[in-house]
This record gives sequence, structure tokens and C-alpha cells, in this order.
Amino acid sequence: MFKKFSIISFFLILGYNYIGGYMKYVPKMYKKTIFDIPYHKLLMEGIKCLVFDLDNTIALIDERVPSKEVKDLFKKLNKDFSIFILSNNHSGKRVKSFALELGVKSINFACKPFTRGLRKISTNNNFAKEEMVIIGDQLVTDIYSGTRFGIKTILVDPLAEKDLWITKFNRIKENMKLRKYRKKNLFERGKYYE
Ligand SMILES: [Mg+2]
Repeated sequence: MFKKFSIISFFLILGYNYIGGYMKYVPKMYKKTIFDIPYHKLLMEGIKCLVFDLDNTIALIDERVPSKEVKDLFKKLNKDFSIFILSNNHSGKRVKSFALELGVKSINFACKPFTRGLRKISTNNNFAKEEMVIIGDQLVTDIYSGTRFGIKTILVDPLAEKDLWITKFNRIKENMKLRKYRKKNLFERGKYYE
């Protein structure tokens, strides 16, 4: 009896991990850049809080200040949304200076895919999970943290191939996931969707 139960639970857990685990890196929306995201649609859906990754999402890893285009976009977005930069970058100085320039709040050293940063934003500002979205360029940090926390996820293509050294390891894992997803027709680079 016990043996039978164990075998059933083993397959149930395996199945759960396969489904939940398998899709956890697939973003809800996928766009080329942050400029291609239909923000009006997010607003209509009841999204109030945009959480942006910094490196290779908003700016290149060696850029010191946001570009004029990014500044203009954030100027518009600030009117409709509460915006946060949630970065794994340990340099608080760089993250804060970007946030200051863009008129938004920030958290550095967020340790995504851990959800600590997202939870902090949600509880400190009373945002329901349905009101939040995370936007980033990495499946295994940005998208996975959003999925784990239970909010909408939007992937954009990285602005450049040059990554921070730690990101290089994430990209290896990401490429493995991408190969699997492509084989199963679940997700493919360059096939954008809303
Ligand atoms: Mg990034």
C-alpha cells in the first residue's frame, strides 16, 4: 500500500515539476526592446507597477547614464505607473544614479531569481501581484523571479552581447532552456508576442 502511494506521489511530483518547472522560464510577453512594449495595454489590464531590470534591458553594462530615448520613455511612463529598477548589480551607486536620472526608485543586489526584491516592492507599496509586471532580458533571473512571485513577465532581447561576468553563467543555462523550448515549439528567440 505504502509502496503504491510512494510511486503515485513520485509521478505526481515529477509531473508537477515537469509542467510548473518546464514553463517557469517562458515569459508572458516577449518584445524586442522596452520601446516595443504596449504600455497602454498594460495600463488597461490594471498594471500599476513596472519593475525593470537595468543591465542590457535599460542600458548597456558600461553605460553610465541613461540615453535620451530611455529618459523620454520613462518621463511618459512615470505619469501612469510606479516604476522600480530591480538589479542584481552589486554597485548601488550605478543603480541609484540611473534611478535618480529616470525619476524612479531602485533596489540593487536583488539576487534574482530570489523574490525578496519583488516582495519588498509589493508589500512596501501595497501592490497586488496582479498589478505588477517585471521586465528584463534574462530568462533565469528576471523571468524566473517574476514567475516564482506570481506576476506578469515580459522578456526583451539583451541590448548587447557583452554581459557582466556573472551573467555569462546564466546565459549558458538560458541557452540550454532555449534549445529545449525551440524543439518543443514553446518559445523561440525573435518570435515576439503579446
Ligand atoms: Mg539584465
